[in-house]
Amino acid sequence: MVCKRYLPPSRLEGFLNQFDAAVKSTVGYTVQNRPIDLLKIGSGDYQVLMWSQMHGNESTTTKALLDFIPWFLSEAQLKYQEAFTLHIIPQLNPDGSHLYTRANANGVDLNRDAIALSQPESSVLRGLYESIKPDLCLNLHGQRTIYAAGNGGPSASLSFLAPAANEERSLTDARKEAMLLISAITQGLSGELPDAIGRYDDSFNPNCVGDSFIQSETPTLLFEAGHIPGDYQREQTRAYIFKAYKLLFEQLLNPKHFELDDYLNLPQNTVEFCDLIVSGVRIFDNGTQKEDQQIAVQYVETLDNEEIVFLPQMLQYGYKLDIRAHKYLELPTGLQSVPLIFDKEGLIKDSQFADLLSLKS
Ligand SMILES: [Zn+2]
Repeated sequence: MVCKRYLPPSRLEGFLNQFDAAVKSTVGYTVQNRPIDLLKIGSGDYQVLMWSQMHGNESTTTKALLDFIPWFLSEAQLKYQEAFTLHIIPQLNPDGSHLYTRANANGVDLNRDAIALSQPESSVLRGLYESIKPDLCLNLHGQRTIYAAGNGGPSASLSFLAPAANEERSLTDARKEAMLLISAITQGLSGELPDAIGRYDDSFNPNCVGDSFIQSETPTLLFEAGHIPGDYQREQTRAYIFKAYKLLFEQLLNPKHFELDDYLNLPQNTVEFCDLIVSGVRIFDNGTQKEDQQIAVQYVETLDNEEIVFLPQMLQYGYKLDIRAHKYLELPTGLQSVPLIFDKEGLIKDSQFADLLSLKS
């Protein structure tokens, strides 16, 4: 099923409603009183707690669950059902998923609320963690288009992190186990995504849920579904995340040997990209005009009429910009003499430019 970026609870409902009460339960309610649903599948001893869309505008790992859950439940995968019990929260932040916001309806980033537990969604996750006592946690996210897999590297199509468990970022047993599991995933995908898998920043922050769970000695993996140039709906990334889920469980069922260096040698995520660089632009800024400028454009994802539109926002301009882009464009000659005007947020609203620079999806 093709699924665009916007995945509100109302679009997930049909998928969730196919499960009866033995599988699906409501484990709490959000700030806006939306149910937080949990799927419990499999009957094995090894307990996995996984949650997606704790950031409401990060739907790709949830979309990959729509592929993974039927795969896991298929007859051919009985060995997985017997080995594992999966506790899956497809949307920890359904309010944010509805509003297409990172934060919950109170404006709180749930991934900075692991100590304070100030929000109902945070308490639900913590309560499940304490009652399930999982052997493994999967913290499922999506990242922006700005990241490269290492300096000068390609777009970070996927990124992973074995979060630090303390300030020293020492290699605790739980952290090492997480690193080796990530190694299995990234080695399994290296043929298809050569050099395009990054390692996320590992500075310790106990307010982050992953850091907090790994501090309690539960191996925890952070997944970040990233950007493949041109794939703004993230359907290609979704397919790789689905593969990543399968590779992880294959490794858990039939472990192969990996080294910590397989993880530690992954390139670090670095901020290097904008979405688009346009050349040959006449800029009108603060009453003065400059010719033959380059502009760096980042798309602002905005919910409009039940879909996400990608509005062009100018980040910076200059004669020659020191930033890389996923796409380059030379302005048609006719437009090179027309001054480009933008608002104080950098948003380009003039229709002849906006039409050209907007993302057609
Ligand atoms: Zn996130």
